[in-house]
Amino acid sequence: MSQITFKMSNVNRRILNNVNLTIEKGERVMLFGPSGSGKSTLLHLFNRLDDPEQGEIQYNGQNIGEHDITKLRKNVGLVLQQPYLFPETVEDNLGYGPKLFNEWKPDNVKKLLDYVNLPASYLDKPIDELSGGEKQRVSLARTLANKPEVLLLDEPTSALDDQNIERIEEDLINLINRNDLTVIMVTHNLEQAKRLGTRGIYLENGQIIEDGPLPEMLENPKTNELKSFTTNQ
Ligand code: ADP
Ligand code: MG
Repeated sequence: MSQITFKMSNVNRRILNNVNLTIEKGERVMLFGPSGSGKSTLLHLFNRLDDPEQGEIQYNGQNIGEHDITKLRKNVGLVLQQPYLFPETVEDNLGYGPKLFNEWKPDNVKKLLDYVNLPASYLDKPIDELSGGEKQRVSLARTLANKPEVLLLDEPTSALDDQNIERIEEDLINLINRNDLTVIMVTHNLEQAKRLGTRGIYLENGQIIEDGPLPEMLENPKTNELKSFTTNQ
């Protein structure tokens, strides 16, 4: 049985113009489109980092504004392009969210590091001793520490080199499968969208131009807009 996780009805915010979509539990939705088309704005609406000017967003059948915002952000975790970690250690970062809910079990930490392929010895490492790829993996682990049901990702690999991209993608696929996550991810990398996504949403000027299954929609675009976007990539 499918279950609707998000439903947006006639949503407007900045460039976003009359966005309508539903996302079912377990979908892996890839958002792509030209720079400035509203991808990040759309992503931020899913955990109230931003709110619509018009229209309605429902999360699990209830208006998103009626959910307790701290719990919402626990359940709908966001990983940004540039990881914002606290100074101090890896463990401090991983424990922050769970401690807010009195759910911190130090035993869980090894599993979290394992998800993102970092050794347990990294727990005590100061953040400023990590490489860019390691920071992004700690950032992912910190979001996972909250046991989200939805993972929002805004170009999480765009600052990484090919080797780190491959590692993070492996980590992502493992943990999506192990934790039964719903994923909404912005990427400018269409090969990555095909590797990770089950559904694509192509945005241009704040509007959904095409919404379809991956990888098919990228191999055989229906609209001229997506056709020209894919050939110019
Ligand atoms: P994308 O992620 O697709 O590159 P964004 O969602 O960041 O696009 O931006 C969509 C539009 O909204 C752009 O025209 C951008 O300049 C504008 N915008 C983004 N963030 C803000 C903001 N905080 N205040 C005002 N305008 C913004
Ligand atoms: Mg963006």
